[in-house]
This record gives sequence, structure tokens and C-alpha cells, in this order.
Amino acid sequence: MPAIDIVMKTNNEKAGRQKGNERQQANWLTSVRQLPGVGERRAQQLKRLNIETWFDLLCWFPRDYEDWSTTVSLAELEDGREAAFLAVVKNKPSVTRRGRLSMVRVSLYQDKRSIQAVWFNQPWIQNQLESGRLYRFYGLIKRSERIFQVQNPSFELADEGFDSEAVQAFKPIYPLTDGLSQKMLRQYILSVWTAIKDQMPEFLPAWIRRSFHLSTAAYAYERIHFPRTSQDIEISRRRIGFEELFLLRCGLYLTRRQTRLQASAWNLSVNTNGKRMITQMIDQLPFKLTQAQQKAWREVQSDLVTDCPMNRLLQGDVGSGKTVIAALAMLQCALAGKQAVLMAPTAILAAQHHQTLSRLLTDSVHEPVLLTGSTSISERRRILSGLQSGEISLVVGTHALIEKKVQFHELGLAITDEQHRFGVRQRKLLAEARNQDKAEKDPHVLVMSATPIPRSLALILYGDLDLSLIDELPPGRQPVETYTAADADRDRVMRLMERVVNAGHQVYVVCPMIEEQADSDLLSAVAVYNQLSQQKNSTWNVGLIHGRLSQEQKDEQMQRFMSGMTQILVSTTVVEVGVDNPNATMMIIENAERFGLAQLHQLRGRVGRSSNQSWCILMSDVQDELARKRLKVICHASDGFAIAEQDLQLRGPGDFFGTRQHGLPDLRMINLYRDRDVITDVEHALTQLIDKDPDLNSPEHQLLRQVIADRYPAVFSQIGL
Ligand code: ADP
Ligand code: MG
Repeated sequence: MPAIDIVMKTNNEKAGRQKGNERQQANWLTSVRQLPGVGERRAQQLKRLNIETWFDLLCWFPRDYEDWSTTVSLAELEDGREAAFLAVVKNKPSVTRRGRLSMVRVSLYQDKRSIQAVWFNQPWIQNQLESGRLYRFYGLIKRSERIFQVQNPSFELADEGFDSEAVQAFKPIYPLTDGLSQKMLRQYILSVWTAIKDQMPEFLPAWIRRSFHLSTAAYAYERIHFPRTSQDIEISRRRIGFEELFLLRCGLYLTRRQTRLQASAWNLSVNTNGKRMITQMIDQLPFKLTQAQQKAWREVQSDLVTDCPMNRLLQGDVGSGKTVIAALAMLQCALAGKQAVLMAPTAILAAQHHQTLSRLLTDSVHEPVLLTGSTSISERRRILSGLQSGEISLVVGTHALIEKKVQFHELGLAITDEQHRFGVRQRKLLAEARNQDKAEKDPHVLVMSATPIPRSLALILYGDLDLSLIDELPPGRQPVETYTAADADRDRVMRLMERVVNAGHQVYVVCPMIEEQADSDLLSAVAVYNQLSQQKNSTWNVGLIHGRLSQEQKDEQMQRFMSGMTQILVSTTVVEVGVDNPNATMMIIENAERFGLAQLHQLRGRVGRSSNQSWCILMSDVQDELARKRLKVICHASDGFAIAEQDLQLRGPGDFFGTRQHGLPDLRMINLYRDRDVITDVEHALTQLIDKDPDLNSPEHQLLRQVIADRYPAVFSQIGL
């Protein structure tokens, strides 16, 4: 069997594991130092790109290609386009120098036409071009007036027999770092490929390649670096993208299955009395649960009453009412005699949740406590000992909850709110909060998030989680009327604000900065606060909250706003997540162009939390077309999912969904926007695979299974399953 260890990324400890394969393994894991032309310095430069082994080089995929396949005549050149053309060098190139800068210049001829070529800071080019010979050039064409110029073109000799086979039609363009050139990377990758191409193992089972029209690994890895046609590029990208995502999804699936078999949690069933208390809490809510909430609660509840640990994502747009589900789950846990913890990303939100829970759980004997960074030492001591002894069953807090000192007696349930604000590590730490006794139980885990991500992406990011969706807002909510406004409209905005305040409602004013800075004309929270509080209407109480206040000051400001004492709260984005004051019906966002769409959507979610009409005004004087388009998206769409999709289209692909923050490996080939069809195929393939062979035990899946385990050891331990 070929050495499957090609897929082991620099995992040197494992290299010796399989005796007898050592020679071949050595190939794949060989250090780049073993390549001709790579010494200490080059190896260091490559390392900056995280390239250390031959395998790393093979997986260094081109970001684009130069198309040398068709050469054009000089008459066909267009300004601003890249092109390949044939031309003769008539005279020796000239070099001009100024200090450390240099410029090589030469005229190139084709029939009666000519074009000028220039190279910056590559003086050696002068000696590489021989006068009187024909070259093939490739580069970006610039035109000013009637003069054409090509800057820093690459070139190769074209008059030796004119063998078109000798010219590579599509040349890869690799991401580079200082000191490395395209030529070097192409050369290194060619050396590696020549040495190892005959050992390229195929780990995707034939039935998957057939069903989903995928090329072999050998074909794809060769043609991604050395394509002959543009079709080659498509075919290779598809295969490698599929493979990348498929391995990850399989890996998440397998680890998940493993935990299901191994882990055990407390069964949080309750007796008749407990059931009555839960029904009572639901009946006493000031509202009726929506259908979607009821469904989500049923899903959560049925997870809680088994001893297999729940691992569930509760996703619902801002204002959809996730908190009450958390409260119900916590009550169920406490009634079952175990402890439950709720972690929020900010102290403001933690305090708010603590209040909500205390209000909702009035009848129960389980008084929730609050633990944050600013909890007093004596209170903290009391809480820690209560958690350890089991006297305290419900705790709400911030990161302070995952410090080592926090030990639980019998932790039954761990919930994180606004999951997107936490990394995988924090979520994992909370999930790992071990119980004191010898039972070694795992808590049930619920993560709540408003981050609107399309389902296919949720499967990637949270592939290891079950998904509950609250896809319905409480009844009577009116869409928040959202407008853009410029500084010239400020009077009208102020009049609307006056109306809102006079009607007894409250207003948020959100600013991008805390304090004025000399070189910036962004509005700061402090400046806006001063302005508003000195206005003629001195009857208004204006509050100010930002990240630099002490915790007590923040608490006090929030308290005053929640109780209605301040009508207007000027703030930075500290109010972005979770804050819930249904009486606030207007938000003004200064310099709105500074915020991402997802963030604007979250901010706007602070209003429109009752049946009263709400307004959101996006202040911006920026004329930039893309910025205006993005603000328009927010004005016209109220659904977080639609906004996320449009943002993705406007911005183009990027790390929008923060795969990195989630602790997943970089997806190098797959593009989550462009390749949606591949994503769908991967899901289908996975479903079929699980159907056929749930443990990947059959001989035809042996290699696949091993590749998964080898390629993603880090993921497996990071995800914490
Ligand atoms: P989010 O999902 O953004 O965390 P919250 O849980 O903060 O939303 O709920 C938003 C607001 O809606 C709160 O004021 C909450 O009391 C209220 N709410 C929740 N569920 C309902 C419902 N079924 N009917 C009416 N109001 C509700
Ligand atoms: Mg919330």
C-alpha cells in the first residue's frame, strides 16, 4: 500500500509509526531543505508561509494563473489587462539608478509596432535579455496617450524552434513572501512533484469520485500546479476543494460519533413535581412562546433527558427570544438536582441575563448568582465554595467562569450566549468544566448565536453540533424602519428623536469611538454626549457608556437606562450584543459606514423589541459607492440571513464567518461563496457514506479513514471532542 502519510502535516512523531514505509514517508515529510537550491535562508523564508515539508509545498496552491495560452498582436493590447505577446528585443536594455532604486527599460518590437517594457528594482534583467532575439512576454498593459507600456513582465525565449509545447500555457501565481519569487516556488514545486508523483495515493473511494464527477488525486495535484488548459484548472480546483471540505466534515462526523459512544452526561429528567414547575414557569411568562421557541425547547429538552451529552447550537435572529430557552433548560437542570452555568461575552450582558433569570425563576428555590471580573472578593469566595459544594445550582457570568479556580460539584448543563464572540477554546473550556465527583460526567452543552449564517456554512462551522433554529420573531414585532441620513439631515433626525422621547420611549446613539482624536473626523461618544446633554432641552437625561468605564460605572449607566431614568444612551459598540430594553425604539448610528453589515444588524437588533414602531438611522456622509450599497442593504433587509448573504456578495469571499476564530483549519481551496455547489455535493456524499458504512470500517474506506485522522489531528483535539 502506498504511504498514506503524505497527508500527515509535519507530524514527525508519527513518522516512525509504520515500519517498512519509512522510505516513502520520508519523501512526503522531507524537509524543504532537501530540495536543490533551498538553503537555510530560503527554508526560513518558506517557513514564514508555513511551508516546511514537501507536502506543504504541494499544498501551496496558486492564487491565480497567467494565461500564456494565446499570444495577441500588439494592435490588440488593452489598457489595464494582462496579456501575453511575442516581441523582439532590438537594443540592449538601459538601466537607470537612483539610490537603491533602479529601472530597466527596453523597447520591444512586433512588425512595425512597438511597446515599452520596464522593470523596477530588478537590474539583473538587463543581462537576461539578448538583443535581436524573440521572446514571449506576459504582463499588465498600461496605456498613456498613444504609448503602451508593460510593467515587470515575465518572459521566456521564443525563437528556439518555436516549440509551443515548451511553453507552459497557464503559469501558476503563488502567494509569496519577501525574498521568494514565483520562479523559485515554481521550481521547488516542480522538483517535489517530479519526485513523488508516482506515489500519489487515491483516498477518495471510487464510488464518490464517480457520483460527484471528481478527478483522481494524481491528476488534480499535477494540474493545479501545471495546468495545460483552463479546464484543467477547474477540474483540479473542484477535486481539491471537495477533498478539503469532505475530509473536514468526515472528521467532525467521526469524532462526534466517537464521543457519542464514549461520553456520558447526567440524565436531567425531572419528577412530576418538577414537570409541574416547568409548566408553571412557561404559563407565568409575560408572553406565549412562539411555535419556533416551543419546537426549540422540545428539542433541547429531549436532549437533556438522556445520558448522551447534548451538543446543540440554538440559532435565532436578534430578538427571536433565545434567552427564555436557556432559562427553561437551566431550570430543568436545577430541578434534576444538578448545576447549570450560562456564560455571556460581556459583563453587561451577563448582568442582564442574571436579572432576567432571577425574574423568571421567582418561584423556584434556585436563586441564580452572578460571577464576573468585578465580583467582590468575598462574594466571589462565597460563590466558588457554593459551586464546589453544590449549594449553588445556577450561575451566570463572563469569562470569569472558566478560570481554573471555578469547580463544580455536579455540572449538568453549560450554555454560552452569543457564541460568535467566543473562540472554540473558551467554549471547550466551559464544556470541560469537570465535576468534582468520580462520576466523570460531561455537561450537556448549548450554544446560542444570532450570527446569521446560511445553513450550509453552519454545517461546516458547527458540523459537530445539532442545530435548532428559531426562525420566527415574537408576534406583533414591526420591522425597524431604517434610513440613511447625512449630516445635513441632522435637524430632522433630532426632531424624530424628540418625538420618540416625548412619547416616553428611549434612544441609543452609537458612535465608533470613545474620544475625539485629532486626525479623525469620526464622531466620538464623549463629544456626542457633551453635545446632547448641553442642548436646550435640558429636561432630557443623557447617559454615556463605553468600554473604558469601570464595571460599577457601566452597571450604573445600564441600570439607569433599563429603568427609564435616562432617555438617551450614548454608547460605543458595548451595547452590540444581547442588550434588551424593549422600551428603546430608536437607534442612531454615527459613521455607520465604519461598521460591518453583520454588526449593524446586531446593533439594530437592540430596538424593535416590542410592538411599538422603531427607527434606526444610519448617519453617514461617505460617498463611496460600495459603502452606500452596503448601507442600503441594511435599510431594505431585516432578515439576518439575507443580510449575511448579501454582505458576502458585496465584499466577496473572505474570512467573514471567522473560520479561524472558530478554530477550524484554513480552508485553502474551497471558497464558501463561489463553491456553494461543491458544499452541497460534500453534504450529499457524506450522507451517502454514513448510510453505507457509518464507522468507515469497510476496506474501501480504510485509506480515507486514516487520511482523516492524520490530516486533522489538531482539529480533533481543538474542537475538543
Ligand atoms: P435574543 O434571541 O436576541 O437573545 P431575547 O431572548 O433577548 O432575544 O428576547 C428579546 C425580547 O423578546 C425580550 O424582551 C423577551 O422578553 C421577548 N420575548 C421573548 N420571547 C417572546 C415571545 N414569545 N413573545 C413576546 N416577546 C418575547
Ligand atoms: Mg440574546
